[in-house]
Amino acid sequence: MIEPVLYINIPKLTEKNINDNLINEDKMFVYNEKYVSKKDGCYYSCPWIEHGLVFFHNKIANCCICGHTAGGHTLLRDNYSGQSIDWDRIFKIKEIYRKFHKKGKINKNCIGCPFLKEAKWDNIGNFIDNMYISHWSNCNSKCIYCFSSQHPEKFENKKRYSVLPILKDMFQRGYLSADADISFGGGEPTLLDEFEDIMNFLLDNYFWGIRVHTSGIKYSQAMARAINEIRGYVVVSVDAGSKEVYEKVKQVPMYDMVRENIRKYALQTTFLGRFLISAKYIIIPGINDTKEEIEKWILANKEAGLYTTVLDIEENWYHEHSNNIPKYIFDLVEYAKKRSKKLHTNFELYERLQNVYYNNRGNFFKRLFKRK
Ligand code: SF4
Ligand code: SF4
Repeated sequence: MIEPVLYINIPKLTEKNINDNLINEDKMFVYNEKYVSKKDGCYYSCPWIEHGLVFFHNKIANCCICGHTAGGHTLLRDNYSGQSIDWDRIFKIKEIYRKFHKKGKINKNCIGCPFLKEAKWDNIGNFIDNMYISHWSNCNSKCIYCFSSQHPEKFENKKRYSVLPILKDMFQRGYLSADADISFGGGEPTLLDEFEDIMNFLLDNYFWGIRVHTSGIKYSQAMARAINEIRGYVVVSVDAGSKEVYEKVKQVPMYDMVRENIRKYALQTTFLGRFLISAKYIIIPGINDTKEEIEKWILANKEAGLYTTVLDIEENWYHEHSNNIPKYIFDLVEYAKKRSKKLHTNFELYERLQNVYYNNRGNFFKRLFKRK
């Protein structure tokens, strides 16, 4: 039974109103000839501008991408804390993004984003097929690189709104595409009171592209169900191949528990393309940046029955060094890629390393990813 969502009466906005009130053209968009498409019917956009939506604890954005220097998180609604949503307004704002981008006036936060692509983008209509739930209200890990663990007072036990009624409303209105990619991250999703209910709602209604980023400390039955039904992917943050390094990075004594939960998730599936469970490794220069640690991590993953290798690099370090990445980092990535290939696991670069790939695709990474 779908619960009704109560709406307060928000006057309908005209495009002029939106321009006046919600989109500050000069502050938010900048003309750049590089982004004026010369191809017929094409313009620069991304799947998130077209049909993406992210619930943050205090705003709604098109995307959760922020690995590039312009910052991402392009805004749809600021100061949001669970109020009823005027979907006409959301989709009109997206339309304004498109209108400016068609003229080469790009949202300032999108400049340099690897997802910004020239294409026809003709999959029109008011629907969401990329959604991210990022609450940032609590976590059971204390990763040394994470802003939330460095400033727990800003995050822990913060009052948060419930996303489930909004999802049900979107579903009822037909705004949530049946093949939508739906991700959780930002804080620890499994700690949310509504996490199991959201997962079961999505599974009961036949969604199949659900990705959950988790510390792996708490085992989730609903996540296990999603894996078992081959409709969910879990990305466990491990960043280590040994207890000693794990505890340096995570600052909690939970390595064995996390490894055990990874193994339990892996046992949920015999699906041959078992990339449904991954143990992500963020390279943190000075802490876990050795081939030996990466080797231990890859072998532990293999022993647990994982068939994927997911790698990234620490965000703060990346922003400081993005123009001057030392060769040994490239060597580590190449090493992980070669070992992944040898062990027949799927190899995936995450956000910052995707940016490195994007910025270096003419040289090093071209060699790394060329087909043999
Ligand atoms: S920052 Fe990137 S992903 Fe986000 S809306 Fe802009 S182009 Fe899309
Ligand atoms: S698991 Fe994620 S949210 Fe939790 S401390 Fe680590 S990086 Fe932050």
